[in-house]
Amino acid sequence: MIDREHGYFDLEKETRSKERREAYLELRLSEILHHGYRHSKAIHSMFKKVGFMPDAIKELKDLEKLPITKKAELVNAQKENPPFGGFGILPEAGVRRIYVSPGPVFEPGEWDYDDIRWAQALFACGIRKGDVVLNTFNYHLTPLAIMLDESLQILEATVIPVGPGNISMQINLMRQLQVTGFLGTPSFLMSIVDASEGMRLDPKRDLHLKAAFVGAEMFPESLRQKLEGKLDIFIRQAYGTVDVGCLGYECVEKRGMHIPEDVIVEIVDTETGKQLEIGATGEIVATTFSKVFPMIRFATGDLSYLIEDPCPCGRTSPRLGKILGRTDQVTKVWGIFIHPWQVDEVMAKFPEAANYQIVVTRKEYRDQMTTYIELKEAVADQPGLKRRVEREMEEVLKVKGQVEFVQKGGIPDRAKKIDDRRIWE
Ligand SMILES: [Zn+2]
Repeated sequence: MIDREHGYFDLEKETRSKERREAYLELRLSEILHHGYRHSKAIHSMFKKVGFMPDAIKELKDLEKLPITKKAELVNAQKENPPFGGFGILPEAGVRRIYVSPGPVFEPGEWDYDDIRWAQALFACGIRKGDVVLNTFNYHLTPLAIMLDESLQILEATVIPVGPGNISMQINLMRQLQVTGFLGTPSFLMSIVDASEGMRLDPKRDLHLKAAFVGAEMFPESLRQKLEGKLDIFIRQAYGTVDVGCLGYECVEKRGMHIPEDVIVEIVDTETGKQLEIGATGEIVATTFSKVFPMIRFATGDLSYLIEDPCPCGRTSPRLGKILGRTDQVTKVWGIFIHPWQVDEVMAKFPEAANYQIVVTRKEYRDQMTTYIELKEAVADQPGLKRRVEREMEEVLKVKGQVEFVQKGGIPDRAKKIDDRRIWE
């Protein structure tokens, strides 16, 4: 339990009722909006534009009255008004670091790191006091590795600040220093497992890992199963962005990602900015309480949905479901939005398909949508399969299209799931 100004803060488990949690978040929201109004040019001018004062935002629902900030707006503001574009609130003591994230986005780092969110994520994944942890995230420029490093201090775990690269050195370190925790991308952990097998080691026996925390990449369930099997440990992931930090983490139950306590996460309609009901898919938008770089309704560009049913782990916080893709991958066909995740949802019902792609074209001012499918092996009733996929596509996407089968390799590797080839003249 970490004592904070507002009296309640539990590193281990969030067990407050929804009402208490929301009251806490509303208090923090009001605090950061007032603080931002006084000290942040960006937040001040946002209130000037909407024409009311921070007092008008009382409940979480009231956030809808404020505009969404997109990454491009942050990048542009920083170009016009370097380095922080009016978003930074610089304390008298100055800032400890300036992070540089893709965009580029410049982000001030505070002197005293007290963001508990990544520590909660690491705890949920099984990292404990006394663990020796290999941090393979990149320490250069972007904040993630350093935030995790600071969070390991909160947990009283030991960190080896190794960063990525040099796999055989990493394996030697893991053995010599009896490393019990791994932090990094799932693909890097897979490389370590592969390389240790190449060195005739048994990752289960010769590495001493107890917990692995992965992030910064998609983490398919098949990869998790493979890694968990090879290492005989739990592997849990978290979701966040460099601009707004940790927004969700898995517990042992892996039924979605618990939203940490010190952030407001909304799922919104990308077009209107209105909050969507529980379960509906929309854009993840975050409001953070950083004293030096607060973000109000920052749009992540990622799509997900909220889960509110109780989690058997005992945490009462709502959860983010799967990350379903990026908002900019959305394509409009016949005026209807189609998302790559919807295509995945349909095709998951057809195990015969090895690979698939939707191509949108335009003929005589009419949109045409064709789903190309590579089959794993020859299917006896191809016309029947074609009809079934077409029916299912129309059911889920609400757009009528054609299905065509192509030869193995007919869909290039790394092809866009929805390839929009329409030319607008
Ligand atoms: Zn849980």
